[in-house]
Amino acid sequence: MAEQKYYQKEIETMPREEMRALQSEKLVKQVKHVYENVKYYRDLMDAKGVTPDDIKSIDDIHKLPFLTKADLRDAYPYGLLGTDLKNCVRIQSTSGTTGRRVVAFYTQADVDMWEDCCARAITAVGGTNEDVCQVAYGYGLFTGGPGLNGGSHKVGCLTLPMSSGNTERQIQFMRDLHATILCCTPSYAAYIGETLKEMGLTPDDIDLKAGIFGAEPWTEEMRRDIEKSLGIKAYDIYGLTETSGPGVAFECEAQAGMHINEDHFYAEIIDPETGEVLPEGSKGELVFTSLDKEGFPLLRYRTRDICVLSRKECSCGRTLIKMSKPMGRSDDMLIIRGVNVFPSQIETVLIKEGYSPNYLIEVDRVKNNDTLDVYVELAPEQFSDTVKDLAIKEKSLAEAIKTMLGINPKVHLVAPKTITRSEGKAVRVIDKRKLHD
Ligand code: ADP
Ligand code: ZN
Repeated sequence: MAEQKYYQKEIETMPREEMRALQSEKLVKQVKHVYENVKYYRDLMDAKGVTPDDIKSIDDIHKLPFLTKADLRDAYPYGLLGTDLKNCVRIQSTSGTTGRRVVAFYTQADVDMWEDCCARAITAVGGTNEDVCQVAYGYGLFTGGPGLNGGSHKVGCLTLPMSSGNTERQIQFMRDLHATILCCTPSYAAYIGETLKEMGLTPDDIDLKAGIFGAEPWTEEMRRDIEKSLGIKAYDIYGLTETSGPGVAFECEAQAGMHINEDHFYAEIIDPETGEVLPEGSKGELVFTSLDKEGFPLLRYRTRDICVLSRKECSCGRTLIKMSKPMGRSDDMLIIRGVNVFPSQIETVLIKEGYSPNYLIEVDRVKNNDTLDVYVELAPEQFSDTVKDLAIKEKSLAEAIKTMLGINPKVHLVAPKTITRSEGKAVRVIDKRKLHD
């Protein structure tokens, strides 16, 4: 097996009508099963006056009630379990980015399905049994490591289960064992690229050709930065513990949006304020229904991730619907002086202006006024500048950010290596207002 374009061709290139029929068949079965086995969700359906008989096809999905993170907290730990605990073989948990941990259960069939999704992602970036796949996502309760590890096995890659951390050793193994595919968070990929340079090495000293990076928001500018520092093509991958983990959606050779594995996860976009389903092409909150999960079968789960869905034809030949890069979740959005700000917007400006993706955003409230401070790390070659030059640079960067956001930040250019690097999901924002409230 050398070049193989798709992992499950029949599904990945399935005509739309056939896909809808498959989704309908799975949904009808899943709703009935959940209604009969998950009391928590049955109560929600009863309260809405919906019975399994009302769900005859995928077109009826909007009749079902939503599930939210608050429901997951209420039902913790076993309330949304879809089968007997003795049928489950695995537990994974969210990384707790937003402070609320979720515990998800998997049967063996769930693990298989999840790993197939990751295998589709690896195959889509050109992975075959001739590749060496270095998995530098954390292993453990976090879904990143186990998910890509399983996908890599399924594709038949030689898997290097490095987990995250110990960056110099990562690079040494990468070189000695000729890793060709790297899987980790984009912030860790950037850090690996930086370390490579510090070790006096260049992309020519490694054999990497592709990277599969996800689990946190990252910008196109960051993609180009990583591609350059590691000499690879960098692809996005998306997922969440509530639906399984990474592999819910993945990027193909077109590098323009991620194909959703919609035979398993049905996607809708809703208005986050009203809950109304929005037409294709609208920006809104992504909602997922697990069509065939057994252990943790969430129906209409509100992810809080903001993005756009598109069915435009893709050059790779896949017919799976695509989602745009989520610009961050609704919880990440900062409201500063009444203006909506996503950290990713600031990242875009920084990289465009020639700075590193090592930054920290600090928001506070002084005398009822919101303040925005952006700390940006200088590269060693930028640091030798005089104090006067630095002040000019700070001012010009503040201007560029103001043009993007419409509000004036205070920019602080700081010495190399003063901002903590991330080996997993990066922490970019400190909102001190929450501490006062
Ligand atoms: P936590 O909610 O604690 O971070 P997870 O590890 O399950 O737990 O993370 C899932 C979340 O990570 C998603 O809901 C999304 O906000 C974010 N995420 C995952 N992949 C991507 C990606 N490729 N781009 C942007 N955000 C992503
Ligand atoms: Zn494609």
